[in-house]
Amino acid sequence: MAHRIAVVVSQGQSHNPKKRAMEEEIVANLLSERGIDVTVVPHLYDLKPEGTGMLCLSGVTGDLVVCSWLYPRAIRWILDRNDIWGHHGKTLLKSAGESEEEDQQVEDEQDLSENDKLRVLDERELPNRKIYCLDLRAYDSATPFLEEIRRIAADQTTNTVELMNWIEGQPKQQQLDRYLGPQPDSPAATPEPLQPTVVEEEASRRWYPVIDFSRCTNCLECIDFCLFGVYGIDRAETILVEQPDNCRKGCPACSRVCPENAIIFPQHKTPTIAGSPEFGAPMKIDLSKLFGAPDPGAPGAEKALDVAVSERDEQLLLAGRAPVGTEVGIRDQNAKRTRETSPRDELDELIDELDAIDL
Ligand code: SF4
Ligand code: SF4
Repeated sequence: MAHRIAVVVSQGQSHNPKKRAMEEEIVANLLSERGIDVTVVPHLYDLKPEGTGMLCLSGVTGDLVVCSWLYPRAIRWILDRNDIWGHHGKTLLKSAGESEEEDQQVEDEQDLSENDKLRVLDERELPNRKIYCLDLRAYDSATPFLEEIRRIAADQTTNTVELMNWIEGQPKQQQLDRYLGPQPDSPAATPEPLQPTVVEEEASRRWYPVIDFSRCTNCLECIDFCLFGVYGIDRAETILVEQPDNCRKGCPACSRVCPENAIIFPQHKTPTIAGSPEFGAPMKIDLSKLFGAPDPGAPGAEKALDVAVSERDEQLLLAGRAPVGTEVGIRDQNAKRTRETSPRDELDELIDELDAIDL
């Protein structure tokens, strides 16, 4: 079977002619590429789970490259919330606003998120395919994206050939044809489609949180904090965004109280909230487990909490409800958050010892 790669171009929300021109250039150049299937969908964030766009993306079982006007983290976790799972495909391209020096920092952050605590993603079995997320805002021209997509496609082909070498020795031309698809000058070659698959879906602008499960520790802080019924838990008692459209347009409050910076609002103007990779590593010392609020020692944490509370109050007022200030969702939550898998730390031991002392 031929090894193919699916490339999805997600259109910008506006009809900005520059953006459209870049999207069209990417699509037009990929149509003639061997082994690449191109699909155009409306803006990824606006797609409804049951709509044609997501159904189309769900049908892709192999490697997937998604180009969108969003940070790569936002792209990946929007797909995830629609059950489109895969391993993180490493790209050589930067995202918007990211500099060369920040690459290593991002890698370090990923290492941190892998090592210190159990994350929801650690308990998942991912399908054996990769998802590459490219941020169309990062470059002014289509060229870097085309080069990167060709590199990814060539890499997949090389891997397939290497696998065949390992199994059967040096493959013959017929074997290559069978695995990679017929060569263009082969009589068996079928012409590549010259039209992309264009998904027509009525997509209006949406606003909802997206959870980065490579960071989320399932502490449930967000479910306690949000008073609009956006969050829920699944059968395994893992946090999920259950009623995304209950989220109040423009409100990013819960992203400020998440101790792991795992909540993304892809359309927020602040990069750290919109899913930028360069800041927002998980907090190393999570005192929120004790005090019910983000680490008070972290720069700006108290201010972030104040802002979150006032943003939530503002939304309550707009919805005709009474503001609650810090009375709900910020304190006395520690008992609710005990997770069997959370490692006990020295402080837990100390508290146990104090409890054991008969005063
Ligand atoms: S507050 Fe953050 S880390 Fe905790 S459950 Fe919600 S998304 Fe996950
Ligand atoms: S942003 Fe506001 S309304 Fe939306 S989920 Fe978070 S707390 Fe709830």
